[in-house]
Amino acid sequence: MVSVIRDVIIVGAGPIGSYASYLAASQDLNAVMIDSRSIVGFPLKCAGLVNPGVFKLEGIDKIGQDIILNEIKGADVFSPSGSILELRGKKPKAFSIDRALFDRRLFFLALEKGVEPFLGHKVVEIVRSPEGWKVRTIGLSGERIFTGKTIIGCDGTGSVTRRALGIQKPGSILNGISVEGIIKGARDPPRDIVGVFVGEKTAKGLFAWYIPNGNKNRIKLGLSTTTGGDIREKFDNFLNDPRLITFIGSKEDRIAFKPISMTISPIPIGVPNRICAENGVLLGDSAAMAKATSGGGIYPGLLACKDLFDEVSGSGDLSYNTIERFQANWTKGNGRELMRSNLIRSIIDDISDREIDMLIDRLRKKRILSLINEKGDIDRPVELGAAILRENPSLLMLIPRFMPRLIKLIK
Ligand SMILES: Cc1cc2nc3c(=O)[nH]c(=O)nc-3n(C[C@H](O)[C@H](O)[C@H](O)COP(=O)(O)OP(=O)(O)OC[C@H]3O[C@@H](n4cnc5c(N)ncnc54)[C@H](O)[C@@H]3O)c2cc1C
Repeated sequence: MVSVIRDVIIVGAGPIGSYASYLAASQDLNAVMIDSRSIVGFPLKCAGLVNPGVFKLEGIDKIGQDIILNEIKGADVFSPSGSILELRGKKPKAFSIDRALFDRRLFFLALEKGVEPFLGHKVVEIVRSPEGWKVRTIGLSGERIFTGKTIIGCDGTGSVTRRALGIQKPGSILNGISVEGIIKGARDPPRDIVGVFVGEKTAKGLFAWYIPNGNKNRIKLGLSTTTGGDIREKFDNFLNDPRLITFIGSKEDRIAFKPISMTISPIPIGVPNRICAENGVLLGDSAAMAKATSGGGIYPGLLACKDLFDEVSGSGDLSYNTIERFQANWTKGNGRELMRSNLIRSIIDDISDREIDMLIDRLRKKRILSLINEKGDIDRPVELGAAILRENPSLLMLIPRFMPRLIKLIK
């Protein structure tokens, strides 16, 4: 049997794999997309909060507004001691989406462009050969080998493509839990703001969250942390957190929450210096493109897909030179914010609850709040942090040991 040599093999049919596949096929490249799962978008591992910019990206602008469940205009950020930083924008700052539906629509977007899907097959081996990459899969219909000139790894945290390309592992891995459910006995749970709860006991190293999930009493709760241990236990403790009880407007002194679905999953952060090798590149979680400040990976991953195929720009050339150009331009452009968010990460890892309280108190000053409300962008926290510091240089001295790192941030 003569084996077809594809222009590109995409490993993973998560949102990033589907979007990369769609963009590849839009450039008339012959693409196959392989995923070990048989059902796209299941099991879910996300809280589904995304930047509105997602729905302006080419192709995604047509997948349907019904994916958007809530428009988010602000956030209540709770300090460890319970003081609140109230952030409010005039326009939506984020959308709470139906993530499973989002993944499926992106998958069909790719299919409509002519991408060949191959589900229910796990990639078990990737090797170079004179004809290109040989990708061996095992799955529902036995063993298969695909050959492709270029390989794009969109295969998430445990990426097999990353190993084959010899690319570094992510800087670190956060542990995340997200639970969708129905809340009872609340006065009027907020529909257009999210709740963010910081503090060592709740979620050391990141935060816990409340996100509205469509109609009245459907919500998403979750947390992400750098600490190990039983994350479900941490989640149960969060349900009894007085700050959450106040925020939700519970009539009782505890929250009556009926879970519908739960996901526990790692979040890779700390993008490596290089995300490509000869005729191969990583996108999305496989390249740890989630933001080190929030764990959100969808928008940065999609932007990276767009940046890669902007380099192809009608030439059909996805060779080493194009990929190298992408690496160089992405590092200076959309990748820069991600790489610099590692700087903030090192501060987050080091900050104490008392210091967070101090910081939140200072951020509540009217002048700073209006800057956050005006410029705040969930996907550009570094840019915002640098703008706040430039306009309020006294903040540099608030916690003296962070000063050298903060100075680097504003450069
Ligand atoms: C608890 C939690 C909450 C989150 N909340 C948010 C949020 O609110 N907003 C946000 O932007 N991000 C959030 N994220 C992060 C977000 O879910 C990821 O960044 C996003 O899913 C990355 O997409 P991806 O396509 O790169 O990877 P994935 O979605 O992980 O997709 C990878 C695909 O590759 C397939 N695959 C893996 N290995 C193989 C193999 N060997 N062979 C074949 N197929 C393979 C998998 O089956 C999977 O379908 C959250 C993550 C967690 C854990």
